[in-house]
Amino acid sequence: MARNIVAVLTHHFVELYSKLLPIPCFLCGDFSQHDALCKSCCADLPWLTQCCQRCALPLPVDGICGSCLNQPPPQRQTFALFRYESPVNHCIAAFKFQQQLVFTRLFASLLASRQRQRQEPLPQLLIPIPLHPTRLRQRGYNQSAQLADALSRLLTIPVNKTSLIRQRNTQPQSGLRGRQRQHNLKQAFALHKPLPYSHVALIDDVYTTGHTVAEASRCLQQSGVEQVEVWTIARAIRHY
Ligand SMILES: [Zn+2]
Ligand SMILES: [Zn+2]
Repeated sequence: MARNIVAVLTHHFVELYSKLLPIPCFLCGDFSQHDALCKSCCADLPWLTQCCQRCALPLPVDGICGSCLNQPPPQRQTFALFRYESPVNHCIAAFKFQQQLVFTRLFASLLASRQRQRQEPLPQLLIPIPLHPTRLRQRGYNQSAQLADALSRLLTIPVNKTSLIRQRNTQPQSGLRGRQRQHNLKQAFALHKPLPYSHVALIDDVYTTGHTVAEASRCLQQSGVEQVEVWTIARAIRHY
């Protein structure tokens, strides 16, 4: 509870501070704006436009990629703002480790405006991909949970950060290859109790191989959530 109050106060303080005083753009250092990035650097980011609806793989036109046609992932849709390449990878590193609050605000407002444009109904609940308690203690906070909180405020969709838990402290996916990655995440997630929602969005910072969100989606579906979608900042692309 005390931690929540501190997080809310810190959020309001940074909001106020950044409205009063300009912040240097993280990429070009321009002091003339109040966001993590200036308008021109933001416009130059590798925006993901046409892509696979199921896994956000870039495609020449919107549709479903061959891999999702062959083996559909459990999530119905994946939204990603960017391709995970320079300079978005540096911005996400800053979001994780140094300038969390200003980047949380930027990424959340960009994701929220993308979601406001959609035709189909918004999900009823947001769930950030959880960290294992040991990892959470080491890092001190979960950046996906911060993003989910900000999205929840902007879109007035409730957020649930307690029901989905990481029951195994899996190895970091980055140190593993193909099948090892998939095996590493088996039974990684569990749900405390069934959720009274049929449509949920999972929030994660980067979609790498998709194994993490697929495993979390399966866990939600096995507990009765009919429709799971994934919202992420960036989509990593192998051999791109
Ligand atoms: Zn700039
Ligand atoms: Zn796909």
